[in-house]
Amino acid sequence: MSPEERHGEGPDSHPSSPQPKEDNASAQGRRMGERILQDAPRLGPSDEFRFGCHPGVSCFGMCCGDVNIVLTPYDVLRLRKRLGLTSSEFLARHTVIPFSKEQRLPVPLLKMQDDEKKSCPFVAEGKCTVYEDRPWACRMYPVGFASPKAGSGETPFFFLLEEEGCRGFEEQSTQTIEQWIQDQGIAKYDEMGALFQPLAFDQRLADGRELDPKQMEMFWMATYDLDTFRRFVLESTFLDRFDVSDEEVEKVREDDEELMRFAFRWLAFALSGKATMKLKDDANPESKS
Ligand code: SF4
Ligand code: SF4
Repeated sequence: MSPEERHGEGPDSHPSSPQPKEDNASAQGRRMGERILQDAPRLGPSDEFRFGCHPGVSCFGMCCGDVNIVLTPYDVLRLRKRLGLTSSEFLARHTVIPFSKEQRLPVPLLKMQDDEKKSCPFVAEGKCTVYEDRPWACRMYPVGFASPKAGSGETPFFFLLEEEGCRGFEEQSTQTIEQWIQDQGIAKYDEMGALFQPLAFDQRLADGRELDPKQMEMFWMATYDLDTFRRFVLESTFLDRFDVSDEEVEKVREDDEELMRFAFRWLAFALSGKATMKLKDDANPESKS
């Protein structure tokens, strides 16, 4: 947890939204990314750092407010399930979408409450009430991960976010980056993140191509609003047009993670022209989506 920017992926981490003006959160994120690329010591998986966060630290729970937490599709999947909400309800209630001129896709931030501390909606009496399903960025803090722009000559690296007021760095416990990632249960988040990244960092978007409003809606539905995507698959003409096995249809119906994998494959087909889906022989190739 950190009192400030907590999107962790760093310099080239999250794409944009369709709004007309760059907002403070995106501008802060961009400035932070530039700072990290310049100044942050690069760490690898076996590098050690000293840090501990537990109810005994004097600042415990104080950092769960006034913070920019970028949500990944898998964060939304876990949180909305935890809260018993549909994806549309979760997105409407708990997210805002910032805008940056450099970013070309909609990616939501967790919406803080409108109180004096701008508290996270999930903190109560200093504790995280969604701890087992807390977002990737909350798990990772104080470790950040930077994926510099393709072609920049930089390689991905870890770094430490040392936020003012965080007493965790005064604790005696040490661990490697690798141990931290394991202890925080990040593997599943990274597995799903690795499937999302090629969509978010599609080369054609990096080259300046913009999605039209319909494509933007497709991206949003197939990444963040998965309950709507599920209905689109099961209740439209989708299954008349695409060659999808009965077993796969059942997984899409019953299993949220499988639905997400399927949605990413469809998006890669529909937006990037990848051969990740198969049309039925008699389907019109013009009507891919
Ligand atoms: S030690 Fe740092 S991360 Fe842990 S509660 Fe305190 S401010 Fe938050
Ligand atoms: S989700 Fe949990 S850990 Fe993250 S900011 Fe909110 S209360 Fe803190």
